Amino acid sequence: MNISKTNQYLWLVLTGCIFVGELIIMWVLNALPALNPWLGSFVDASLLSIFVAVLMYIFVFRNMKKAVADKFRAEEQLRLVSVAFEMQEAIMITDANAKILRVNRAFEKITGYSEQEVIGKNPSILGSGLHDHAFYAKLWSDLLSHGIWKGEMWDRGKNGEIYSKIATISAVRNDKNETVQYIAAFTDNTAHKKAENEIYRLAFYDALTGLPNRRLLLDRLSVALSASARNQKYGALIFLDLDNFKTLNDTLGHYFGDMLLVEVAKRLKMSVREMDTVARLGGDEFVVLLEDLDADLQEASRKVAQIAEKLRVKIATPYQLNENTRHSSPSIGVCMFYRNQVSVDDLLKYADMAMYQAKNAGRNRVRFFDPHMQQVVETRALMEADLRSAITDKQLSLFYQVQLDQTMQPVGAEALLRWQHPTRGFVSPVDFIQIAEESSLILEIGDWVLETACRELARWSQHEKTRHLVLAINISAQQFMQTDFVEHVAEAVKAHQINPACLKLELTESVALGGLDVVVTKMLALKHGIGVTLSLDDFGTGYSSLSYLKKLPFNQIKIDRSFVRDMLTDTSDAMMVKNIIDMTHNFGMQVIAEGVETEQQLALLREYGCLSYQGYLFSKPLPVEEFEMLLNKDAVGRV
Ligand code: C2E
Ligand code: MG
Ligand code: MG
Repeated sequence: MNISKTNQYLWLVLTGCIFVGELIIMWVLNALPALNPWLGSFVDASLLSIFVAVLMYIFVFRNMKKAVADKFRAEEQLRLVSVAFEMQEAIMITDANAKILRVNRAFEKITGYSEQEVIGKNPSILGSGLHDHAFYAKLWSDLLSHGIWKGEMWDRGKNGEIYSKIATISAVRNDKNETVQYIAAFTDNTAHKKAENEIYRLAFYDALTGLPNRRLLLDRLSVALSASARNQKYGALIFLDLDNFKTLNDTLGHYFGDMLLVEVAKRLKMSVREMDTVARLGGDEFVVLLEDLDADLQEASRKVAQIAEKLRVKIATPYQLNENTRHSSPSIGVCMFYRNQVSVDDLLKYADMAMYQAKNAGRNRVRFFDPHMQQVVETRALMEADLRSAITDKQLSLFYQVQLDQTMQPVGAEALLRWQHPTRGFVSPVDFIQIAEESSLILEIGDWVLETACRELARWSQHEKTRHLVLAINISAQQFMQTDFVEHVAEAVKAHQINPACLKLELTESVALGGLDVVVTKMLALKHGIGVTLSLDDFGTGYSSLSYLKKLPFNQIKIDRSFVRDMLTDTSDAMMVKNIIDMTHNFGMQVIAEGVETEQQLALLREYGCLSYQGYLFSKPLPVEEFEMLLNKDAVGRV
């Protein structure tokens, strides 16, 4: 039994009074012996009343203690509940009709609404509009049947921002199992959601361009194959690689390289449908996945060819990278797919092969995959592996092709690489230089050529007949772009103590892709700093802009052999040759014609004013011993 606070005091005072009163009576009775005959029963009654009083006192005291303890416990519980209510988790209590009764501070913080603003309202004021009817139907069905709903939902805060929350809503029921209240507890999940999205983005998207990466592409490709199996329509994979990107990246720097890649990504995305996937595999390789093209192969191929050509033109349009205008072009390989006849990996491989074919065919073009190509590509991969060991196994050598002046006197030679493969026999540089360039093996090979040529020049400097000869070596653009290329040449010249004027470097116009200023500075360092000679190889085949030519400090221009070959039959080629010769004279440069095969070509070249020649008419490229024997002949060549 609980006793109210006032009653407790009343009982305490009453029993205290009785107790004290009885003590007084006992004392009086004991003090008056005359009253002794009565005393017996009176003392008994007094003792009894004292006993009762003590009992009552103990009873009241204990009750009072319990009441105080109960009160303390209740206060403690209240304190705990209010602490719990104000924890990190937002809490919202509604009545059975979902009218908000109370919210805590965490609720106010997450939603931005104060308690006054939401009391009496329906929780739908927090709705983001992102969930459909089915979502809420499921929520209510769980709540009504199980009394609880747990899950993730998107809400909108007072400031209009949408946030994600993890929530638990519980129904509070009375003794009759009727729902009297709902308690919703939730935490803000936005940061977690953001982190989750970021992880997803990092795992499936390319950080630079924001395009899907290889992993996501492969995923989508396998879905596309299944879709093609269902709808019986062809799809296509377009593999795109930028031509000369490495050169541009090495020379202009990665910052500009990245800018270019971002721009390419943008152009690709803008050129295809929303449903098509544009992915970046890495480096300068992009893939476009086209689905749902047509049920007819021919029609589907026609559409793809059109799209691929459109992409080629878009990517080949000049780029404005800060103040610089840059040209780039793509090599594009296309592989069609139908149902899931070919695996995802193989499809990608075939599109890649087709892209290589586009590169081999001269770059900046589109090629469709052809199964015969597969063998070519596999052979090529083997070649690359073999080429790696070619230097260490001493399979490379230099052949020398004589160069003559107008008096038909040998004035020098061009050193041309030869590869004696152990099983394949002789492999032409036309077949392996490009592989070397694409695999960066060209740098190692280039070093070897420079070293070998300088050693030869040092030997020639010891002999009367060879002392004056200028030896030309071919330098690939990649080699020239190396930051320490000039130092490298200087070291070789110094190490072999050769006359630098006897070393001629043949460069092609592709070096100019590296940005005019850098190239000119490098050329001047080579020409004036070291003293070597510079010749522009294959002139007429590349961009060959006159303004470029004027700015690049070449000593010599080498007319490409294709013009020399056709100059007798094609008047425009003849005109071209004549113009080149006139122009070099105007610029104060020397000119040499390569690929001279006939007396008629020689005669016409002479007539136009070309005073140096190289070609089969005089000699094919020869091993060094045979070349030196050739020099001993009275009249060189006319083989
Ligand atoms: P290139 O520098 O234009 O070399 C001239 C090519 O024309 C050589 O082919 C040469 O053998 C060939 N040639 C010379 N005279 C005639 C002729 O009268 N008629 C015909 N039809 N051809 C003639 P080769 O030796 O097969 O070299 C091909 C290309 O390989 C070279 O073209 C050059 O670009 C590259 N190359 C050769 N050696 C090296 C090297 O050491 N380093 C680099 N980076 N490239 C090299
Ligand atoms: Mg050459
Ligand atoms: Mg040439």
